[in-house]
Amino acid sequence: MIQNLSAAALPASPTAEGSELRAPIIEVRGLGKSYKTARGTLNLFHELDLTVEAGELMAIVGQSGAGKSTLLHILGALDTPSAGTVYCASTNVAHLSARQAAAFRNREIGYVWQFHYLLPEFTALENVAMPLLAGGNRKQDALAAAANWLREVGLEDRASHRPGELSGGEQQRVALARALVNNPRLLLADEPTGDLDEITAGRVFDLLERLHATHGLTSIVVTHNLDLASRCTRVLRLEGGKLNPLATGRQSASSTGTLDGKSTVSGQN
Ligand code: ADP
Repeated sequence: MIQNLSAAALPASPTAEGSELRAPIIEVRGLGKSYKTARGTLNLFHELDLTVEAGELMAIVGQSGAGKSTLLHILGALDTPSAGTVYCASTNVAHLSARQAAAFRNREIGYVWQFHYLLPEFTALENVAMPLLAGGNRKQDALAAAANWLREVGLEDRASHRPGELSGGEQQRVALARALVNNPRLLLADEPTGDLDEITAGRVFDLLERLHATHGLTSIVVTHNLDLASRCTRVLRLEGGKLNPLATGRQSASSTGTLDGKSTVSGQN
């Protein structure tokens, strides 16, 4: 049975004046995720809570294996929680059918991963148009929208290039355009600069920051790079199954290095 998505929407809170406050775009309560492994049950999160307000550019840092990717997957309806409630973009993503989850992702979420996952046999323009084509849009409309997005990421002159003819940074810029071509509310980025050299990573992050601001996005970026994380409005560290504030992002954090044990972070915790 198709679930009524609107019935799963978070109620907005009334204010004293009777107008309505905007509900947070993400509201996670008591999240648990467990995997059965050969060595027993792996409990990844311990009643994890998270609230993200619309417009935040948030970074999640933490050691490898802490569960950062799993958390992003749950928020973006690519995986399901074992316990707790997960409201994302006004939808209870914990209880979607496969079809509803696909529709939710297509409508609300833009994903960027460490690896670009562009289709090698298609041009940059066709790759960016792909989510629109998959959503049933007319080809000429999809290609026109894709051309606009390639312009946004500064690659209009590379429209006919295949991914193999682009640099790593250019491939990630195309991947960002593809992630946003459907005008999602939420951008989830999992180590989007992890494969890039420092200068290119900084430029891709500049672009992500600009697109975040100009398109009214709410963005969550998983990164090992504390320099980049400190440019976000909030930085949370996933540790011991919980999210803890690491620094207050742009306002006060200063940091160097990465999370490989050599890094140092100063700022308000
Ligand atoms: P991170 O992104 O922080 O590096 P992940 O979310 O990728 O961490 O993984 C967290 C932990 O969960 C790892 O120990 C990983 O091996 C484990 N894990 C992830 N997916 C599965 C799965 N399908 N089955 C069993 N264990 C898994």
